Amino acid sequence: MMIKEIARHTLETRFGPFELASFAFGDNQQMVLALWRLDRSPLPASPEILLRIQYGCINGTVFKAVDCDCGFQVESALKRISQSNNGVFIYFADHEAFGFGLASKMEIVSIEKREGKTFFEVLESRGYPRTVSDVLWTMPQIFAAIGVPRKVILLGASEEKFNRLKELDFEVTRVDDLVIDQTELSQSVVQELQTKRSIFSTFINSIMRRSD
Ligand SMILES: [Zn+2]
Repeated sequence: MMIKEIARHTLETRFGPFELASFAFGDNQQMVLALWRLDRSPLPASPEILLRIQYGCINGTVFKAVDCDCGFQVESALKRISQSNNGVFIYFADHEAFGFGLASKMEIVSIEKREGKTFFEVLESRGYPRTVSDVLWTMPQIFAAIGVPRKVILLGASEEKFNRLKELDFEVTRVDDLVIDQTELSQSVVQELQTKRSIFSTFINSIMRRSD
């Protein structure tokens, strides 16, 4: 399977300028974007680059919802990449991780709120897939297109992304949690983040044990 580069230009953001390339992949020509800042001089400036992989979420990223942390993650990751001047931000614009589509994600959110259920309880009760559908196979081709080696510090605690990148011959030297200002987040998301953090530390400890 091949991805197709569509366009490339510079994007001026609140966090400074980024190079941007958009790609299409898969039967439905889904869009994936790469934004990057690379310190290329003098080469090799840094042996590893920051990498954030973000899946689509309209409520969080477009409408700045405070009852999900996606928008906060995007902001934190772009800031971090901008400060380091060496990193890539990948955004799967049409893909929300599980592969049921952004429209179904809206339906799931509405059921969560109406029935007071968690995201995974809704997936279970409505028969949606509960495992992540793989779009990360595109990553080696994206890295080749923008000309960076596959040696990264992964931003954000995700065992799924960590494992899949390693399968795809990425060297993941470290996983860093994203720093998120929680003061604006809704209480339920703050609780979710605490759970994520504890899963994160268990995960990090297991990686350390594996590499001993
Ligand atoms: Zn979200």
